[in-house]
Amino acid sequence: MRAASRGLAVAYDYDLVCIGGGSGGLAAAQRAYEYGAKAAVIESSRLGGTCVNLGCVPKKVMWNAAQLAHGLHEARDYGFAVQSSGHDWAGLKAARDAYVHRLNGIYAGNLERKGIAWLQGHGRFIDAHTLDIDGRRVTAAQVVIATGGYPVRPAVPGAELGIVSDDFFSLERRPDKMAIIGSGYIAVELAGMLAALGTEVHLFIRNERVLKNFDSTIAAALMKQMQADGLNVVTNAVPAALEGTPTGPKTIIVADGRRFEGFDTVLWATGRAPAVESLNLAAAGVRQNAHGCIPVDEWQATNVPGIWAIGDVTGCVALTPVAIAAGRRLADREFGGMVGRKLDYSGIATVVFSHPPIGTIGLTEEEAIARHGAAVKVYNSSFVPMYYALGAIRPKATMKLVCVGPDERVVGLHVIGPGADEMTQGFAVAMKMGATKKDFDDTVAIHPTNAEEMVTMR
Ligand SMILES: Cc1cc2nc3c(=O)[nH]c(=O)nc-3n(C[C@H](O)[C@H](O)[C@H](O)COP(=O)(O)OP(=O)(O)OC[C@H]3O[C@@H](n4cnc5c(N)ncnc54)[C@H](O)[C@@H]3O)c2cc1C
Repeated sequence: MRAASRGLAVAYDYDLVCIGGGSGGLAAAQRAYEYGAKAAVIESSRLGGTCVNLGCVPKKVMWNAAQLAHGLHEARDYGFAVQSSGHDWAGLKAARDAYVHRLNGIYAGNLERKGIAWLQGHGRFIDAHTLDIDGRRVTAAQVVIATGGYPVRPAVPGAELGIVSDDFFSLERRPDKMAIIGSGYIAVELAGMLAALGTEVHLFIRNERVLKNFDSTIAAALMKQMQADGLNVVTNAVPAALEGTPTGPKTIIVADGRRFEGFDTVLWATGRAPAVESLNLAAAGVRQNAHGCIPVDEWQATNVPGIWAIGDVTGCVALTPVAIAAGRRLADREFGGMVGRKLDYSGIATVVFSHPPIGTIGLTEEEAIARHGAAVKVYNSSFVPMYYALGAIRPKATMKLVCVGPDERVVGLHVIGPGADEMTQGFAVAMKMGATKKDFDDTVAIHPTNAEEMVTMR
């Protein structure tokens, strides 16, 4: 064992224990195992965490279904006499649940095969190296806190009448008339997929626009498209109360007194909180910030030596690949001898699975100007993708490159349109390597694609 081999007086049960068997915890434990560490994962629920059970995976299944719903309309433009006879929500949910269940099994099998212990139950600190799991005690040389987060309801009367994203994945039938409250990516994603599958969707946003942390041009293009798709976007709507009964119709009252009635389902997509309450952090001396998150330095270190935190619980870039990358790099360094290995949080690409999808990397135009002022040059493009050319409805794709300095280094790339989800990853590699606008210009286009517009912008 690592501690013993270092000649320390204390021998621990494990070299590494990860609290949380989600994206980050599993990644850190498995990478540490590859270097010969004795590792364990504490998980109270299903293996795979938010991403597999209540996030990316079931969401993407629903998005795929919604894409097909759009495709059924568009198929007519291509000569198909498609008649949809409705959508089997319950059947899709059963298939989706079975898929997630299969993934749970694969994760459990991987741990078992590798001899990584799955300590089932709630983990809490007894001290910095001792953890209690529902009455069972284990010790660890190093501990990774990877407990993720959970969706929160706002503190307004009747909030309990609304569901949150976790509950969305348990819905046995498609809501008929639904209110989604929130303007972040989870809100717009769920709104888009439900609307495509036939729900009457009303999206309530606090200000004038959705996706406030995204580039404004792209966010405006999405708002326009959502409205064209029949979503009712209610702006400047700060929820003040929810009235009704758990099974009956519900009314939303917003701060300026407006009332919106008749929703069978109301979903709060108003934020997430770090899952720390049950950890007994004080026993280990681990500090939290004002939001309850566990602050870490660039090495994922908390204020207590040997205790690290990764993923959503840190409050930094809440995405699955980020939690995984942070966990793997931490293990590479601590158990693989890769001195200096850590996660670079800049230029992380991400996709919003809206309809159409959004891809985004790096600085928005607004952020670039705030940072670099007049040194910023922006290239824009808006065009009808060929895919829509045969139809009566021709939504536009929108793209933007944000460049800085005399060499026009590309510091921001933003796109909304068909294929944005798949095209963004490759551009992220180029930007990580320091690509300039000239590099983009010197790259011969792939024709006919939407992505070619990225290398032909003037
Ligand atoms: C609706 C939705 C859609 C999303 N879509 C995407 C997407 O498309 N792409 C993307 O990259 N990200 C997406 N995310 C975000 C992504 O799911 C998270 O960033 C990621 O899961 C974070 O990983 P984590 O390891 O930090 O935590 P989690 O995956 O949340 O894992 C934490 C685990 O810890 C367990 N746990 C908590 N406390 C304890 C305890 N005391 N003892 C034992 N176990 C404990 C929990 O049960 C959980 O399994 C989405 C999230 C949501 C909610």
